[in-house]
Amino acid sequence: MSETILYDEIVDALAPWIHKVKAGQRLRIIDLEGNQAVDFLIYSALDDAERYSAQDTIAAQGNLFLREGALLLSNEGNPMMRIIATSVAYHDTIGGACSCESNTLRYGHHTKSQHSCVDNFLTVNATAGRGKRDMVSNINFFMNVPVEADGTLGIVDGISAAGLTVDLEALMDVDVVVSNCPQINNPCNGFNPTPIRMVITQNV
Ligand SMILES: [Zn+2]
Repeated sequence: MSETILYDEIVDALAPWIHKVKAGQRLRIIDLEGNQAVDFLIYSALDDAERYSAQDTIAAQGNLFLREGALLLSNEGNPMMRIIATSVAYHDTIGGACSCESNTLRYGHHTKSQHSCVDNFLTVNATAGRGKRDMVSNINFFMNVPVEADGTLGIVDGISAAGLTVDLEALMDVDVVVSNCPQINNPCNGFNPTPIRMVITQNV
């Protein structure tokens, strides 16, 4: 059995990305320069009313963080993708996507014109006929959101580094939607958004 590369592209800093990944295919995301949050949504290619569910995923694994072996479940409880390997210790399930609204609330009115992950998600989801009602809580690969003993969330310095990776295997045919996070007001991208690389492979 050999691995065939079906797709290998760089996603520019700040940019969105959308691509189909068929059951059995693998997606590798490479954090090229380190500490770049990759906001990530999954929709079933067959019926996009079925999509990634943070709640189902967290409840089933009994843990807030995504590590090697994590099953990413849909709102119907079906496994959509599995994290088959990762060179970063864990990934975030609860930090959500940055938006104009959250930026201006947290960081001030001067951030109103800044690009955000919600802008990216809406733009690229529109190409697949999806709108605001299709936005759900996303995964943040390479983002560090620790939970303190009292339940407080932090968005703190990342634990990723240049060249680190996460490898996912699709367990159904899926539409993967990504925002290469443009946030510059907190440390989730080291205050410097950078490109990522996406590689889709298949064993033949
Ligand atoms: Zn963002």
